[in-house]
Amino acid sequence: MRVFACPHCAHVVQFESTSCVNCGTALAYDPVARTIARADGGAGAPCANALVAACNWLAPAPGALCASCRFTRTRPADGDAAGLAGFALVEGAKRRLLFELSELELPLARWDERDGGLGFDLLSSAYEPVVTGHADGIVTIDLAEADPVHRERLRVQLGEPYRTLLGHLRHEVGHWYQTVLVAPGSEREEACRRLFGDERADYQAAMSRHYAEGPPAGWREQFVSAYATMHPWEDWAETFAHYLHVNDALQTAAAWGVRVSGPPSAVTSAEPLQSDPADAERGGDLSERLEAWIPLTLALNAVNRSMGVEDLYPFVLGPAVQRKLTFVDQLVRAGTPRGVHN
Ligand SMILES: [Zn+2]
Ligand SMILES: [Zn+2]
Ligand SMILES: [Zn+2]
Repeated sequence: MRVFACPHCAHVVQFESTSCVNCGTALAYDPVARTIARADGGAGAPCANALVAACNWLAPAPGALCASCRFTRTRPADGDAAGLAGFALVEGAKRRLLFELSELELPLARWDERDGGLGFDLLSSAYEPVVTGHADGIVTIDLAEADPVHRERLRVQLGEPYRTLLGHLRHEVGHWYQTVLVAPGSEREEACRRLFGDERADYQAAMSRHYAEGPPAGWREQFVSAYATMHPWEDWAETFAHYLHVNDALQTAAAWGVRVSGPPSAVTSAEPLQSDPADAERGGDLSERLEAWIPLTLALNAVNRSMGVEDLYPFVLGPAVQRKLTFVDQLVRAGTPRGVHN
């Protein structure tokens, strides 16, 4: 995330700000200029979800939804107070997700723009069984996940080191980007199979095996998380989510002038990787960014422990995981193959 300044007094304001803490100017996020603007500055009107989803984005016209809210296909009914509380939290995480996707200039097409476009069904499992997941462009989120007590209980039950709404969204959108960035029958698909495994493996059987037996011994050598061991699709989605974690957190650190250089002995650099010659022009390949990321996470984890809280980034990125992240990075930078872009 970038750091934003109040357009009136230049005080630091946040991506979520609706007013300046210093001068009180009413603020909104302008998704076209990708900046925080005056709410009444003429760049747009308040989003129709301003109250119900605590949305601070500008919409093109009064009464319209903003560019983020329009990605939501299904939301809780007006009378569903519990569902709406979760809805606002998921929409907040989704705005961060969409900001990062636009910063990365990843292709985006909405569910109502084309078949298989990206959309979100935000559903309450209080009324019907809801499984968080992705199918044909639609990401389904169980709004119960917005309740921190429920989410923490699941996190402990599943033995996960990290479980957040933003993490869910990054994982699920990763499934969609696999369909967008890796065309069937392409060279990319073969390269993807060499790294992540053959995605034609029976998913139901893989899921049953995973929940019966757990991850294979020594999985940390090859996978970023235990869940990634379940099936090649999940390995891709977990890797993609981590790519977004790393990219966003490094952008934030750079925006605030945070750079960690030591202790040098703790820094494990990425293995030499085959990189695209054009990478240098685009600001360094991923191995350079991981060289900044790994000491940063070690330092921030140490700071968190000083405060008696869990590690900020409770993951280890071994050489095999770094190769997978590099592959994702190359696809993200190369963009969409011709003909798929929308
Ligand atoms: Zn101000
Ligand atoms: Zn909105
Ligand atoms: Zn998944």
